[in-house]
Amino acid sequence: MKRLYNAANLPEAHLVAGWLVQHGIRIRILNANATGALGELPMDAAAPQLWLEDPRDEARARGLLEEFRAQASGPSRPCPACGEDNPPVFELCWSCGKGLP
Ligand SMILES: [Zn+2]
Repeated sequence: MKRLYNAANLPEAHLVAGWLVQHGIRIRILNANATGALGELPMDAAAPQLWLEDPRDEARARGLLEEFRAQASGPSRPCPACGEDNPPVFELCWSCGKGLP
């Protein structure tokens, strides 16, 4: 196992992990249940961490991570069905589950 990424929070960790898994990278989220320990541990230790199950995936995973960041920094997309804003990497609306254009 090799640490790949420190997420800011659990939703971000799941978003990034989902993106990597979609591309065939096996990933584990550690510290996923550590939120209750915030304030007792240094922030960095309590933040969810993404670990590669296979360290040989690292180069590809880092490339995907950059691609994810580039897309995630783009404009959000409103859902045509319900009007909620969705992060640009989402393919389905988080609110109503309809496909996004
Ligand atoms: Zn929607």
